[in-house]
Amino acid sequence: MTDNTAILDRNSRFADRFEAADLPILPKLGTLILTCIDARVDPAHVLGLDLGDAVVLRNNGGRVTASVIDEIATLAFMVGKMTGNRDPKFNLALMQHTQCGAQNFADPEFRNALEATLGIDVSASAVVDQETDLKRDIARLADAPVIPGGLTVSALLYDVKTGRVREICAPRKLSDIRRG
Ligand SMILES: [Zn+2]
Repeated sequence: MTDNTAILDRNSRFADRFEAADLPILPKLGTLILTCIDARVDPAHVLGLDLGDAVVLRNNGGRVTASVIDEIATLAFMVGKMTGNRDPKFNLALMQHTQCGAQNFADPEFRNALEATLGIDVSASAVVDQETDLKRDIARLADAPVIPGGLTVSALLYDVKTGRVREICAPRKLSDIRRG
């Protein structure tokens, strides 16, 4: 595929039946989903999201990195300004998946080659064991003082072979996690 014909055709069909001009900017489900960029893991499909339902943040591996923390803190700040509530209550759902390409980052040889070639350190994005990594990512959020404590965080794991999402950690308020 060397041009945009296919996606522009699809957009044309989308725009022909477009009815979403009046959607509010704040997501209807009060949810932000962090997941991997893998093309098989699009939350609109996997979680049945419609336009305006959720904020979706994606990176290699779907892991909580320093830039993800900045994005979430900025979003929370904006929502706080819009709603007049400095401690907004939206739900952060972290969703990793099986057969993730970011498992390559756990291989020191691969990671070192990438760093030597590009000067990019992907160690924080490495996927080693999804359940452990998801729990570590919840801890990364809890350890980040820029993320407001009123946010709720949960962890999900999507199986690319069955289409099924399993809840690894039920939603908990960050302030409760911080209290231990
Ligand atoms: Zn992935």
